[in-house]
Amino acid sequence: MIPETTTPLSFVSDSPESPWATYLSQVDRVVPYLGKYARWAETLKRPKRALIVDVPIEMDDGSVRHFEGYRVQHNLSRGPGKGGVRYHPDVTLEEVMALSAWMTVKTAAVGLPFGGAKGGIRLEPKELSLKELERVTRRYTSEIGIIIGPQRDIPAPDVNTNGQIMAWMMDTYSMNTGSTSTGVVTGKPIHLGGSLGRIKATGRGVFVTGREAARRLGLKLEGARIAVQGMGNVGGTAAELFVQAGGKLVAMQDHTGTVVNNEGFDIKSTLELVKREGGVAGHPKGQRVDNEAFWDVDCDILIPAALEGQITPARARRINAKLVLEGANGPTLPEADDVFRDRDILVVPDVICNAGGVTVSYFEWVQDFSSFFWTEDEINVRLDKIMVDALNNIWETADRHKVTLRTGTFAVACERILIAREERGLYP
Ligand code: NAD
Repeated sequence: MIPETTTPLSFVSDSPESPWATYLSQVDRVVPYLGKYARWAETLKRPKRALIVDVPIEMDDGSVRHFEGYRVQHNLSRGPGKGGVRYHPDVTLEEVMALSAWMTVKTAAVGLPFGGAKGGIRLEPKELSLKELERVTRRYTSEIGIIIGPQRDIPAPDVNTNGQIMAWMMDTYSMNTGSTSTGVVTGKPIHLGGSLGRIKATGRGVFVTGREAARRLGLKLEGARIAVQGMGNVGGTAAELFVQAGGKLVAMQDHTGTVVNNEGFDIKSTLELVKREGGVAGHPKGQRVDNEAFWDVDCDILIPAALEGQITPARARRINAKLVLEGANGPTLPEADDVFRDRDILVVPDVICNAGGVTVSYFEWVQDFSSFFWTEDEINVRLDKIMVDALNNIWETADRHKVTLRTGTFAVACERILIAREERGLYP
């Protein structure tokens, strides 16, 4: 078998801590377990298509501002592209590439008929008015309109984007194509073809995979001490479900600061406070501590659910948890993974742990096509089953190869991707 040959990509940095470098190192770790499909592994290391767009808008004061936007389709071998859109001042092409690649792995790991894609705009949404946010969203959607569509690439919410932004994207795409196209994005409001259960789906998936992993470890959820970084959509929902299952939320960190409470925070009032005040820092029942102290908290389950690159090897050496549930994408650097492995701390990796969101996005897409909508119970039961089955399969694979769950997930997913690639053949 002659392997593929390649030239290095010209547009990536050589930072070993970039999300793209993290992703590449994860691929390198799985190649020995891909058997005959390893010959196609280079396919995984290059995005199929990366679009950079200029997004000029008129600001409320009459001035014009230009923003930089991206849409990357990493791999479409198994179906249309699928992945969120992130609004953040630190978004880069390289970050979006990594996030799109993790979507390829994630959709394959849970067996959804999608490839991987991701988008983003470099902006601080807090600095824009609602009208400016709408204009930027509509112009961005028009610019990436040449590559998205219900059968081509289906965006969804990610950090700092939500149902309203998806509604504007759906409307803009529909205006440009001349017919209402609900299936072009997921994570929409319910009466625009959104799915029940979508908003909480990612956090619910974190809970379901965490519950199963805890069961296998013999770790009881009743009384389990939970620490969460990022009390947004994903972290907030996961925390809520763990507390409902008997867990104790003992530490929280977000962009406003870190608070701890040994007796456990009341979840209902905490979520209300985050909604009202925008963060956890002012929690009346919390002891404010230095941000770095978050990583020393005595806990059973740690849920990073904010941004990537948070768990460095130094932090991994200090973490006291038995189980790490990656709600965020790419929170753990590869060397930190090694530290966790050596310290017997189990990591349920992002590419399975936070796949609940894209799974219910898949349900939404299917419901939009058939114009037949399911109940929330139906959604949650189907989600639970898909996540549990996927995790069991990954667990067996990891056991068989004696590798971490991350490499096990990559092994399951990359084989599926590369089988599709081989069966489709190389065009022309
Ligand atoms: P969100 O905007 O609702 O919440 C983000 C949270 O991260 C907030 O609590 C914010 O305060 C916190 N945060 C931001 N910067 C921080 C910092 N420097 N230090 C500590 N905390 C910080 O976003 P979300 O939708 O909950 O997404 C969180 C993560 O989950 C992201 O990595 C995202 O890619 C991933 N994810 C989201 C979904 C989804 O369906 N929303 C699906 C899969 C993965």
